[in-house]
Amino acid sequence: MNILLVYAHPEPKSLNGALKDFAVQRLKDAGHTVQVSDLYAMNWKAALDPSDSTDRHADARFNPSLESKHAFERGTQSPDIAREQDKLRWADAVILQFPLWWFSMPAILKGWVERVYAYGFAYGVGEHSDRHWGDRYGEGSMAGKRAMLVVTTGGWESHYSPRGINGPINDILFPIQHGMLYYPGFEVLPPFVVHRTGRMDEARFSSTCEALGQRLDDLWNTAPIPFRRQNTGDYTIPELTLRDEIAPGRYGYAAHVE
Ligand code: FAD
Repeated sequence: MNILLVYAHPEPKSLNGALKDFAVQRLKDAGHTVQVSDLYAMNWKAALDPSDSTDRHADARFNPSLESKHAFERGTQSPDIAREQDKLRWADAVILQFPLWWFSMPAILKGWVERVYAYGFAYGVGEHSDRHWGDRYGEGSMAGKRAMLVVTTGGWESHYSPRGINGPINDILFPIQHGMLYYPGFEVLPPFVVHRTGRMDEARFSSTCEALGQRLDDLWNTAPIPFRRQNTGDYTIPELTLRDEIAPGRYGYAAHVE
């Protein structure tokens, strides 16, 4: 299988760097082909801006969505964007690995998503009608591919438990897992999260690698998070709210998981 690991940490000798090296080796040993987009090493440009298309008039009003659509259709995207899209097309599974920074992904990775997920590539695809509101949330360009987050946090597991002060980790990761991965069609596996990184020593590092290795070995037979599909009846269209009889009394993120 082809696996793309998109990795965001500025220090190769970090815990994240060591976990990334371990993951790449484990996947290769299992016979997979691996590509790594090491965003800091690539000096990835995080900010979406007019220079992302190569043929625009400097004085034209910049509309980020439309510009992205036109550049994608005309083949005038910045080459760094097109290269990452090719990697996504090639991949059977995508792993996003990052330290949790301010309750989200590092800006450089957010910028990868913003720029690589072009209009027509990751969104704005499929028919929009009163029965089908675009190919998204269970359908889309990434359908058939799997995705998984590998995340490290300074906070303890209890800080991210259902009543923990930081909010439940599944809620914090929801915009990434549901919004950035499920939306364009990925099947999203439960995340691999390493908490309380300040308390890492050789023994814990070794057991963490063992657990991560197991998750990588199981990449193809782990059940994905059962997010609800948009176009198969759970939601009214075009309001895109859950029908009253679906998960009555459940609100917020949890309602969108079967
Ligand atoms: P490192 O700092 O590189 O290492 C962590 C520990 O692991 C160290 O003790 C190190 O000695 C040890 N280690 C490293 N490599 C190995 C190895 N090969 N073998 C054994 N031990 C090793 N945390 C939150 O919970 N929520 C937040 O919102 C949040 N926001 C943040 C925002 C910013 C801007 C920053 C800088 C940090 C934030 N943090 C937050 C903390 C952050 O998530 C952790 O610092 C990060 O996850 C640790 O990962 P690292 O790769 O940087 O670890």
